[in-house]
Amino acid sequence: SIAKQQRLGFRRFTTSTTEDSNARLTLLGDLRRALDHGGEISLHYQPKVDIGSGALVGVEALARWQHPTKGPISPGAFIPVLEATTLIHKFTHQVLTEALTQARIWLDAGYRVPVAVNISTRSLLDADFPDQVAALLREINVPGERLCIEVTEYSIMSDPNTAIEALHRIRRLGVKISVDDYGTGYSSMTYLRLLPLDELKIDRSFVQDMSTDRGNRALVASTVELGHNLGLTVVAEGIEDASTLAALSEIGCDFAQGFHLARPMPADAVTDALRRAYAPAA
Ligand code: C2E
Ligand code: MG
Ligand code: MG
Ligand code: MG
Repeated sequence: SIAKQQRLGFRRFTTSTTEDSNARLTLLGDLRRALDHGGEISLHYQPKVDIGSGALVGVEALARWQHPTKGPISPGAFIPVLEATTLIHKFTHQVLTEALTQARIWLDAGYRVPVAVNISTRSLLDADFPDQVAALLREINVPGERLCIEVTEYSIMSDPNTAIEALHRIRRLGVKISVDDYGTGYSSMTYLRLLPLDELKIDRSFVQDMSTDRGNRALVASTVELGHNLGLTVVAEGIEDASTLAALSEIGCDFAQGFHLARPMPADAVTDALRRAYAPAA
């Protein structure tokens, strides 16, 4: 029976996590130290590119943790650990602060590059979050339009009323809202219409093999159409080869991100790329 399967599943889960939970506790202690002292966690930035013109239209901030003894630890491994505690709020605050400070540096250098920041469910649903965003924009002196927040369908659907109210408050600051990993969650058509959104970001699982998989190509094409009909910009993530980029171009997708175009890189490397792109012709 389903109940029995769930019971067994639950037992398997609890026994196998005894070890896991020790590892998580150690990681959590290390994270607490890293957030207190700084220097270990930094941001890389992955360019977002206009498929038609090839222009850099924005960057996405991606957290990187260089552990002093374990080496690099991916955000996929440490963000869930943070999210299980209130430490996530401190992390989100630090990431927003660093990303906005970098956006300010680029603005001062004459580059109006919008910066996207991934926001975890717990931060989005935190009652103070919209005011925190407002305060940081003011303190760091960045116009709201230069910030985009990426939230997942999962975040929104876990508490739609709270999420929708928060998104409205954030969007009133001029901040852009993007739905990340679109297609992997369960957002209904109704919510998609109710949400204050600017961008849909199609998950890389649909994008990656769309040049060979007709089914995924059809899903991506109809998502692009849906997004456009709702007045949204559509971005594809995870472009790893030229044929995928060509397929996206045919479909009329607006923007793309992926290793084929540019990998996540330190801020200085983005600045170099901006300087080259906007250098006066020699
Ligand atoms: P995401 O927001 O969907 O970010 C895209 C992920 O795909 C990044 O992994 C990026 O490095 C990777 N990627 C980009 N292009 C390609 C490609 O062509 N092929 C492949 N295979 N991968 C590509 P990363 O940096 O490991 O981040 C993983 C996830 O961790 C992110 O997924 C995001 O959900 C989360 N994350 C990262 N930084 C932050 C952060 O500062 N705050 C929060 N809350 N979450 C973050
Ligand atoms: Mg993202
Ligand atoms: Mg994504
Ligand atoms: Mg993704």
